[in-house]
Amino acid sequence: TTADLIDEEHRICVCVRARPLNKKELTMKDLDVITIPSKDVVMVHEPKQKVDLTRYLENQTFRFDYAFDDSTDNDMVYRFTARPLVETIFERGMATCFAYGQTGSGKTHTMGGDFSGKNQDCSKGVYALAARDVFLMLKKPNYKKLDLNVFATFFEIYSGKDVLTLRVLEDGCGCGCQQVQVVGLQERDVKCTEDVLKLIEVGNSCRTSGQTSANAHSSRSHAVFQIILRRRGKMHGKFSLIDLAGNERGADTSSADRQTRLEGAEINKSLLALKECIRALGRNKPHTPFRASKLTQVLRDSFIGENSRTCMIATISPGMASCENTLNTLRYANRVKEL
Ligand code: ADP
Ligand code: MG
Repeated sequence: TTADLIDEEHRICVCVRARPLNKKELTMKDLDVITIPSKDVVMVHEPKQKVDLTRYLENQTFRFDYAFDDSTDNDMVYRFTARPLVETIFERGMATCFAYGQTGSGKTHTMGGDFSGKNQDCSKGVYALAARDVFLMLKKPNYKKLDLNVFATFFEIYSGKDVLTLRVLEDGCGCGCQQVQVVGLQERDVKCTEDVLKLIEVGNSCRTSGQTSANAHSSRSHAVFQIILRRRGKMHGKFSLIDLAGNERGADTSSADRQTRLEGAEINKSLLALKECIRALGRNKPHTPFRASKLTQVLRDSFIGENSRTCMIATISPGMASCENTLNTLRYANRVKEL
């Protein structure tokens, strides 16, 4: 019936979030080139030079469903992005929430895996807030009577060697994470928010083990966290929350290093495929090009089916030095929504 169809306008939500200038940018005397004049508009003041070498700022304006400035906390971002999607999975739907942006722009901070050590606010990220609300919703009489079971999985899609592999973020990762193909994703039975937090924590520490920095590895892989509702063993709904690879990696295709070049090409391909899949979802097109990349294949069932909703959080760095990447991010986010 048309009653359960979500009207197209609400199928896709695209938001932008700017973080504050960080210590490094402040030390380098980088300037904040972002203005968020209203709750759905973001402006970029791009430095330009005329032929006579005089400099000026060119203002570019973008409109999204929501624009969050650097004073907005995760709680607020969550409320307007992933929160409305929790209901979807209880109504037998598929929900996805992506964090898209350049490395260092705040994707992981937003999704909730800020595990740098200095910042113990992992519990305040979108992963954890969504998990909390799933367990709250489960207690509502309407849903309680459905007798649903909650499962969670956390894995990454990583272009290692020449083939793309899925690394299941499992405990016991100290002895080397198992590398697996798409099949065999470890699904965990979770009983409460704490179980989920534990899974995220293990996954996060696993993601960075053996890495020089959190960003070195995460900039090259997509992290996928899923909350799955099952009823008598059958899938009822699924919420996928994704911390995407840094979008600046797509530019690595001209790198001198073969491995870097291959990874860049793969990331580029997956981000382009993702955009097309979301666009197809928004227009209710029968053909979704999910076969174009491993990322979209993994999310396949989120892009088909009439009860699917997606939210994209485009994260941007405010510095002038990041201007080009920021504009690329905003243009991509714009295209996702554009008809
Ligand atoms: P990404 O995952 O996109 O590479 P991170 O989430 O790791 O970026 O963010 C880079 C740094 O900026 C981290 O130290 C993080 O704590 C900080 N940061 C990101 N977003 C915010 C924000 N909205 N407010 C304060 N600090 C932030
Ligand atoms: Mg990150």
